[in-house]
Amino acid sequence: MRIARIAHPEGVAFAAVEAGPDGAETATEIAEHPFGTPNFTGRTWPLADTRLLAPILPTKIIGIGRNYADHAAEMGREVPADPVMFLKPNTAVVGPDVAIKLPTGSSRVDYEGELAVVIGRPCKDVPASQAAGVLLGATVANDVTARDHQQADGQWTRGKGHDTFCPLGPWVQTSVDIGDAGLRTELDGKVVQDTRTSLLLHDVPALVEWVSRVMTLLPGDVILTGTPAGVGPMAEGQTVSVTVEGIGTLSNPVTSK
Ligand code: MG
Repeated sequence: MRIARIAHPEGVAFAAVEAGPDGAETATEIAEHPFGTPNFTGRTWPLADTRLLAPILPTKIIGIGRNYADHAAEMGREVPADPVMFLKPNTAVVGPDVAIKLPTGSSRVDYEGELAVVIGRPCKDVPASQAAGVLLGATVANDVTARDHQQADGQWTRGKGHDTFCPLGPWVQTSVDIGDAGLRTELDGKVVQDTRTSLLLHDVPALVEWVSRVMTLLPGDVILTGTPAGVGPMAEGQTVSVTVEGIGTLSNPVTSK
């Protein structure tokens, strides 16, 4: 199932996105929240009559650094033995097609296309073997980074934390093989990152175990699994699109206003 959060003609709701009999996609409203077994209200709209919002509102976003060997190498850094964890504020989240705003005072803002997973129930100390059971599903993320701020500060809160620096979407796919999915980033249509999630140094089950050893994970929390080689700067007026095979494409324009 593809779980989206939509603005529809009468409000905002979670919804299941499905292909209708004529091929056109529809959005079927979910009552309250999508965790556990969703309840449907019976209301459906053509997807084209709605606007996709960020598919989830996390209480926290856990990023993982240097989780593809080729990206660690391009940054001139060693591959870490254990996952390197950082937090992004939930105020950084924006949905599909919302502009990434270049902050004043930064001279280099990079895209980082990533597979993201969404937690489906409260959990702590989850063994890797049971990680699949605590996930709602997977979505697409752009771990936008002010590289100059990240490198100047010695830790990553400012570089990773600006408003609009965590585009998520277009929806949460609850059934997808995230162990070996294609991941591709395009800048104005030019492919700049292209990998498979099978090349993650620490895979999703290992990350869930590692992160949940530290902090309780709540429904809707998001783990960004890391970016492959090919990171680079975005300029005002460009559009960045991240695609994960089996999930979809997340596109965002870039603005300085
Ligand atoms: Mg990243």
